[in-house]
Amino acid sequence: IKIENDTATIQVYEETSGLCVGDAIYRTKKPLCAELGPGMFENIYDGIQRPLKNISEISKSIFIPKGIEITALDRKKEYHFTCENRKINENIFPGDILGFVQENSLMKVKILVPPKIFGKIKFLAPSGNYSLEDVICEIETSKGVEKIFMVHYWPVRTPRPIEEKLNPTTQLFTGLRVLDCLFPCVQGGTTAIPGAFGCGKTVISQSLSKYSNSNVTVYVGCGERGNEMSEVLTEYPKLKLEKSNESIMKRTVLIANTSNMPVAAREASIYTGITLAEFYRDQGMHVSLMADSSSRWAEALREISGRLAEMPADCGYPAYLGARLSLFYERAGLVRCLGSPAREGSVSIIGAVSPPGGDFSDPITTATLGIVQVFWGLDKKLAQRKHFPSVAIEMSYSKYLENLRINEKDLEYVKSVAKAKEILQFEKEIEEIVQLVGRNTLTEYEKMVLDVAKLIREDFLQQNSYSKYDKYCPMEKTKNMLKNIILFYEKCALKLKDEIKLGDKVAFGGKKWEELKEELKEAYFSLVQMKFIEVDERMIENMTKIRENLKQNFKE
Ligand code: ADP
Ligand code: MG
Repeated sequence: IKIENDTATIQVYEETSGLCVGDAIYRTKKPLCAELGPGMFENIYDGIQRPLKNISEISKSIFIPKGIEITALDRKKEYHFTCENRKINENIFPGDILGFVQENSLMKVKILVPPKIFGKIKFLAPSGNYSLEDVICEIETSKGVEKIFMVHYWPVRTPRPIEEKLNPTTQLFTGLRVLDCLFPCVQGGTTAIPGAFGCGKTVISQSLSKYSNSNVTVYVGCGERGNEMSEVLTEYPKLKLEKSNESIMKRTVLIANTSNMPVAAREASIYTGITLAEFYRDQGMHVSLMADSSSRWAEALREISGRLAEMPADCGYPAYLGARLSLFYERAGLVRCLGSPAREGSVSIIGAVSPPGGDFSDPITTATLGIVQVFWGLDKKLAQRKHFPSVAIEMSYSKYLENLRINEKDLEYVKSVAKAKEILQFEKEIEEIVQLVGRNTLTEYEKMVLDVAKLIREDFLQQNSYSKYDKYCPMEKTKNMLKNIILFYEKCALKLKDEIKLGDKVAFGGKKWEELKEELKEAYFSLVQMKFIEVDERMIENMTKIRENLKQNFKE
């Protein structure tokens, strides 16, 4: 972890008792590396990519025994390699595709020329079954013949090279209405979820890894409780992807460094995770990386820094905490990958942050805030009221709204989002008035806004991740739900007694809100019921039906 003149400081991930001054040290001549190749999906690794499943099978122990040495990827397992059509003596560059391996029914892993290697092809293995120890290609470089295997190594702390970074414009759908609608993230974006203990950080990151529209998810359980990780392990294999009906494990890599595992490896786990994510990105896939939680990672950093006797800064964290965090988040992005044929891939990072006591002014949260583009702040008060996801509207933001609005064709939806925000804001103001002078002074319009705001908060933004009908909400449903609610609001506004301004028109209605509400009971109820509509091929039809009924209600 540190080299200074002729002294190297080494972090040892194994038991060190018995080591003495003067013992011989042998150099591997490489820094901490990740093994990259086919065979990583459905696997669970620890922070330095030791395969936990295989270790437990071999050692028959639930702990990692001393001295065990197993490679991250199975060397003996054979994969069917399908070669690309390449000629002998053809010039070849980093990132060029040599062939692919169908790893499981869902994922196809491309075998690429590793970074930094280029030259002329001398040999390319024909399609067939090979293990990771077999040479599949030989490339003549300026430094001699380079043998290429299906697996290669990459130092985890170095970002993998890319052609260029691009401006991301595709939304990363989370399946949570409040996030998709108000604070959208993009494929290739950076997001932080800060929140006190029990606010729902883990539920949100797990829900993202289950339902987001990424090709691959890497889930890093970093210093949180072990039962959360075992929950992932027992629950995920049962979950199916929406379209293909495949287990979501087939696109997932898990990295576990829970609170009872060595702190030293925890610091590495985030780098291992992002390196795996970058490997898949280079193949042209959209990867999302969940890190739960980066606070525990920073604590590991603090511990290591303490042992190195470095000068501590704020709260004992090292002075370079912010720099380290930004180095990590900077590895996200939508990129044009190296090599031909041309392809784009992305890494999105979603980092949970758990500040002690939910105090957002702690060094990790403030440092993270300065880096990420999307901020989903979780509110303890909402969580206590069991309003989940407990995303605080006033505090959260997304800087990608502009990027996404450009491509949004549904103008009514865009307007509805703006209106919904306005209503929630207005509700705050009205509530202040109510507290000062009571409810009686409210105009009919204000009374109506209070009810609509309640509808938005409780029946649109609130979403129970443990229910069958509402654990995941596709964007189409989100859009229609919001549009219906806003339509209801606008129609109601026209019917009320007060003088109100809609755009530049002034309208006079004739009813009291209480009366009108009674008349519209059914319509109101249908809006509440929208979230129960099943996600199937009849969903849109059902949504439109509610909309038509709404319009009917206001006909006369
Ligand atoms: P954290 O990771 O922030 O400590 P968790 O994600 O473990 O908190 O959430 C704590 C509890 O809050 C969960 O066990 C669950 O009961 C409840 N919860 C959180 N989010 C939701 C949600 N979206 N829907 C329903 N319950 C939730
Ligand atoms: Mg948690």
